Amino acid sequence: MSAGLHTLDGRVAIVGAGIAGLMTALRLAPRPVVLVSKAPLGVEASTLWAQGGLAAALGCDDSPQLHAADTLAAGDGLCAPRIVERFTRAAPQAIDELARLGVAFDRVGGGGFALGLEAAHGRRRIVHAGGDGTGRELMRALVAAARRTPSIRVLDGFEARRLVVEDGAVRGLLVVGPAGPLMLAADKVVIAAGGVGGLYEDSTNPSGSFGHGLALAARAGAELADPEFVQFHPTAFDGPGRPMPLVSEAVRGEGAVLIDETGERFMAGSPGAELAPRDVVARAIWRRRAEGHRVFLDARQALGDRFATRFPVIAAFCREAGIDPARQPIPVRPAAHYHMGGIAVDAEGRSSLRGLWACGEAASTGLHGANRLASNSLTEAVVFAGAVAESVAGASFARGAPPRPPKAPPAADPAAVRPILSAAAGVMRNGDDLAQAVASLAPLALGAGPCADPAAVALMIAVAALQRRESRGAHCRADFPDKASQARRTTLRLDSALAFARDCAPTALERRALV
Ligand SMILES: Cc1cc2nc3c(=O)[nH]c(=O)nc-3n(C[C@H](O)[C@H](O)[C@H](O)COP(=O)(O)OP(=O)(O)OC[C@H]3O[C@@H](n4cnc5c(N)ncnc54)[C@H](O)[C@@H]3O)c2cc1C
Repeated sequence: MSAGLHTLDGRVAIVGAGIAGLMTALRLAPRPVVLVSKAPLGVEASTLWAQGGLAAALGCDDSPQLHAADTLAAGDGLCAPRIVERFTRAAPQAIDELARLGVAFDRVGGGGFALGLEAAHGRRRIVHAGGDGTGRELMRALVAAARRTPSIRVLDGFEARRLVVEDGAVRGLLVVGPAGPLMLAADKVVIAAGGVGGLYEDSTNPSGSFGHGLALAARAGAELADPEFVQFHPTAFDGPGRPMPLVSEAVRGEGAVLIDETGERFMAGSPGAELAPRDVVARAIWRRRAEGHRVFLDARQALGDRFATRFPVIAAFCREAGIDPARQPIPVRPAAHYHMGGIAVDAEGRSSLRGLWACGEAASTGLHGANRLASNSLTEAVVFAGAVAESVAGASFARGAPPRPPKAPPAADPAAVRPILSAAAGVMRNGDDLAQAVASLAPLALGAGPCADPAAVALMIAVAALQRRESRGAHCRADFPDKASQARRTTLRLDSALAFARDCAPTALERRALV
């Protein structure tokens, strides 16, 4: 155990230092918190890489009702309408709050926010910073705000490995840092550890975003919601680099079009064309590629020489790969990008486990339904960080004896899981492949190796995808192409997922191995 850190006991513990963790910590001030981040502060987080921006109804032709209507339409019948309404009403204040914290958003001449357009938004409502450098600017400002807030104690370079639960409530968090394991006695823990893209081979997420927060919650007995809904971004840069750089939706918002290697604009005839919801565009590209074509995003006419000024980050990585986006089409393909599912939470961010809250991409509030509307996630993190902080501050639990630290599991490594999940739970899915993935993942999830936690999350994704016998939003089954008449959300616990895997196992021997 590391010595000298016992003063952290009794603080609210927050796992993750992206926008969700940082905003929750700031909103809880001056209440003492310990902010745990496995990467150095401001380094590895999806937030840092965000390009497009944050959605909020700020234009004079816009309203929270119009923003809500677009969010519900993209969510394909599965959004929680009350959450959508609350979110779209609060979104404009969330942007003001970030501006007050020092985020330098791009502005127009009169001082108002410069508003971008993205796919499936009926209005220009995307606030951005530094063109496509929104995430960098957010992290710069929020890390600076956290560093000047005395109530926030940062433990970076520490990985959360287990939640300690006694008598059905959270009692502590086991973290592992440079000097070994450290037990934080905490009866209030907020998981803000980001998404699951790192469970896939083709992903736009930092490789450390492999659902570790979901694994901690699931192993502690908390419910996950809608884990099968993984959003595939249609236009990741199709090069050898992993994670894959993203070519933001905002490029299509500025008029860029999708073509194949023959120059055919293959989405021209479909509703919404290139600005249809993400799941629709991702499937169109997937099909085109399955027919043996290559797919490109062509910004030559729409942006031409303006490309590098409006999208400096994208222009830079294109140039590094030898492509000039002002004069050449950009090669693109779909990649795992965002998780609509996550730890099941209520409107206050409370999970099904006493003492555990979740915020940001790790949480499933029901806002995104079956398919997230572009740029709703950063705003969601800010809006719900406020709700989580209020709920945490208002909760009081009787203190017991210090929790007993469990044995620390090894550092998690998703490498063995990636090929299994990618083959079965990608853009197009089918029952046989998913059943095969469930059979492969269950023994890994039950093991004690580095892939056990990633496998537990991947198993829950595969089980929920196998059980959802319909196609809706980002979940598309070749063997069940129609949408069920009734939309229902999934809730799933790890023990139920393992029991399901056991029931599916073809032989008694295999069933016994899963006990
Ligand atoms: C390339 C890219 C572009 C995007 N563009 C946009 C956009 O324009 N607009 C938009 O709304 N959304 C965008 N998104 C999605 C959005 O960025 C994320 O949903 C959002 O940033 C998630 O924030 P978060 O705080 O929940 O998680 P993250 O920002 O991913 O932060 C997670 C934190 O948890 C830490 N962590 C993880 N596991 C552990 C552990 N076991 N112990 C300790 N720490 C841990 C990580 O180190 C990190 O600090 C984009 C995503 C990507 C990848």
